[in-house]
Amino acid sequence: MTEINLHQELKKYFGFSQFKGLQEEVIKTIIANKDSFVIMPTGGGKSLCYQLPALIKEGTAIVVSPLIALMKNQVDALRSISSEHGIAHVLNSSLNKSEIKQVKADITNGITKLLYVAPESLTKEENVEFLKSQKISFLAIDEAHCISEWGHDFRPEYRNLRRIIQRIGDNIPIIALTATATPKVQEDILKNLGITDAKTFKASFNRPNLYYEIRPKTASVDADIIRFVKQNSGKSGIIYCLSRKRVEELSQTLQVNGISAVPYHAGLDSKKRAKHQDMFLMEDIDVVVATIAFGMGIDKPDVRFVIHHDIPKSIESYYQETGRAGRDGGEGHCLAFYAYKDIEKLEKFMSGKPVAEQEIGHALLQEVVAFAETSISRRKFILHYFGEEFDSETGDGADMDDNVRNPKKQHEAKDEVKL
Ligand code: ADP
Ligand code: MG
Repeated sequence: MTEINLHQELKKYFGFSQFKGLQEEVIKTIIANKDSFVIMPTGGGKSLCYQLPALIKEGTAIVVSPLIALMKNQVDALRSISSEHGIAHVLNSSLNKSEIKQVKADITNGITKLLYVAPESLTKEENVEFLKSQKISFLAIDEAHCISEWGHDFRPEYRNLRRIIQRIGDNIPIIALTATATPKVQEDILKNLGITDAKTFKASFNRPNLYYEIRPKTASVDADIIRFVKQNSGKSGIIYCLSRKRVEELSQTLQVNGISAVPYHAGLDSKKRAKHQDMFLMEDIDVVVATIAFGMGIDKPDVRFVIHHDIPKSIESYYQETGRAGRDGGEGHCLAFYAYKDIEKLEKFMSGKPVAEQEIGHALLQEVVAFAETSISRRKFILHYFGEEFDSETGDGADMDDNVRNPKKQHEAKDEVKL
């Protein structure tokens, strides 16, 4: 296998002339049949880490992914790079009998290089029995943080994967991938999958072009937001609110004040949601006021600001949501409004949940409080949370936050902590 020219394969299948970040090292590890663990921020290019070796290696790679929409996008994209229709398949409960037969035939014939499955399909007895008898090149577990209760998207079915994998084959190499960088989640993933010897590849989570700012949230928060948006008129921005009601109210307030804004939340019908999303992407409007329902898969490169009207429930969520600003490498202003009573509100939301979940939720919220109230470099805080060292004097983007630009005096910093 050593004579494979990976750059040539990359060009042939994807048309790219360079690997991004650690992709090439990851791919070499998979080709050498070793387990690997990939931690890269969203947009880092994780899919290619398993897609390219799947296309190169003999047999079918199984890709576990939690969302049907994500799988479908990837399968469509893969089919467009090859004339072979069965090169990538999805195996799930939406298929009828004859479709399932076709999928299985393509795997047996060696046509299918990637088989996307949801964890609940993989655990089905008939699928395990079938896959056991096939040539499986490796197993990729995308969005692997779903394994951990400390992640933002825990899926209990992900916890059964290890048992299933062992039944499908003893020596199938595993690659787990996630954009969740917290050490706790990483540990959970490695332990649960039983791949503690996996080679770990971690990209930096630093976003040097993002400016982080936290302001106290007062009764005049709406006026503060209007002023900020007007000072940035003509630029694209997202404003996140906790509730649908607040989204509706704030978008109306902005409209009344002459700002072109639309609301976006899961309570709107799908036609309206799609329309508002398109208006934002096409720049018919400047601002989307949204709940966290907005953003998954939104790839607008020139979002210039992300405002949090309400503080998010974890540093992870904050990082993901602010991360939608400045994708093109240009300016990205991340402004969050913070009041301790919003933390209490978030605590109250959790009160109906199981105790274990409440404890985790509480611990994550305490980190948010510490972040909002800190007087050290915000970037250093975030990166430390993700297990990364950052030099707040010489690091890339070191002066890109409010605390570094306007250091609080010692006594002020203390006064700020009014719990
Ligand atoms: P992730 O899963 O890490 O969020 P994706 O796999 O969705 O990221 O990739 C993000 C984007 O980067 C995609 O548009 C993809 O086509 C692009 N990309 C991936 N690898 C390369 C590369 N080597 N050169 C150029 N673009 C790439
Ligand atoms: Mg991905």
